[in-house]
Amino acid sequence: MRLKYAITIGDPKSAQIVAVQSRSTGNSHLSRDDIVTALGLTQSRCRTGLALIYAKYTKDPYSAEMALAGLQQYATATAKKYFSESGSGFRIAISIMAMLALEEYCRTADTPGAKCLCGGRGQTRDLKKSKKNGFPVYQECKRCKGTGLRPLTQTRCHHAIIKHFPVSQSTYSRYWRPFYDDLLSWCYRQESLAEDSYNLITSLNPRFREMTGNEQV
Ligand SMILES: [Zn+2]
Repeated sequence: MRLKYAITIGDPKSAQIVAVQSRSTGNSHLSRDDIVTALGLTQSRCRTGLALIYAKYTKDPYSAEMALAGLQQYATATAKKYFSESGSGFRIAISIMAMLALEEYCRTADTPGAKCLCGGRGQTRDLKKSKKNGFPVYQECKRCKGTGLRPLTQTRCHHAIIKHFPVSQSTYSRYWRPFYDDLLSWCYRQESLAEDSYNLITSLNPRFREMTGNEQV
């Protein structure tokens, strides 16, 4: 079972538990306690990674706060690679970039206003092929490239920092955009570290191995 589904089962607060469980565990015999144990171990190893995943998939505000704290720390440390500036305006701008990167990372099709014109499905009907075959044929949505999400523009980030730390469009593109991308990919890296750790924990434990089998949701 993928970690992102496991968390909704391990989270007693989640209203999605039943829905997700029926969708993702079908023939799995992993008990809720097994999952909670594996999640606990994952948390002790990849605290921020797991917080990011919770923030994204369960929209838990406490996890979002924890994830943001981790990301802010990374942003402050890594900013030195991109900028030589300092001062309070600059620090606020760095902090805003971290918030916006987290917001982008956490977007799912459930996020208000995030859905693409394809309705968040990431697919559109191929009219030509559908007509030719006589049944609906789907293709990857060209607008969102299959994510189901409306692409975000960098203008929103540039506008958000400009009040605190004025930078020109070209300076933004040259230095701030790569910095933002760095923050966003850090989030994905933490997510996959947590995912790897969870998979390792469940695969090392013979009980887990026997229970999960080849199942991949
Ligand atoms: Zn789309």
